[in-house]
Amino acid sequence: MRGRQHVLIGTTATVATGIGIVSSGSSIVNVMPIVIGGVIGSYIPDIDSHKSKAAQMFNKILSISIVVLAILYSLGITLDLEKLSSFFNSDNPKTIAVLMFAVLTILGKLSPHRMFTHKWFGTMLFCYSVYLMGNIYFTIGFVTGYILHIVADTMTKNGKYLKFFQFKLPCRNSKNKFDISW
Ligand SMILES: [Zn+2]
Repeated sequence: MRGRQHVLIGTTATVATGIGIVSSGSSIVNVMPIVIGGVIGSYIPDIDSHKSKAAQMFNKILSISIVVLAILYSLGITLDLEKLSSFFNSDNPKTIAVLMFAVLTILGKLSPHRMFTHKWFGTMLFCYSVYLMGNIYFTIGFVTGYILHIVADTMTKNGKYLKFFQFKLPCRNSKNKFDISW
């Protein structure tokens, strides 16, 4: 399934979720982080796709931007606190979360297609790092988009080989051998 289709499913679902949340009394301002989370969450699992030239290029640009943004964000926080030691301070879970997300993106990018990012372990780590960033609406959108991506993949022609519940570390292929591709 193409990235565009995944993003379409994720966006539709999160817009619907957003409408549900607003109609249950929450502010309309909260719809935005849900939808942005949904778009990112529905695309991220396929950061490992190396199929088309366009996908390769887009994934490279996306992963590099996430890493650069994460570094800038972390440096911003470090400069604010004027202490380099705060960089890895566990009192600062948001910085850790953003760095964790960036590291996961790199690992996902290096992993073979439909392995690490498409298994329960990678899914949990990605969703947990987003949860640690601290915005509940963004988290709801991201988790919804991510899970819908996996569900949509299992419905494709090769979906029966997806094996979501298999344990898979980053950079491992279907035979559990070390395998990297960039
Ligand atoms: Zn996929």
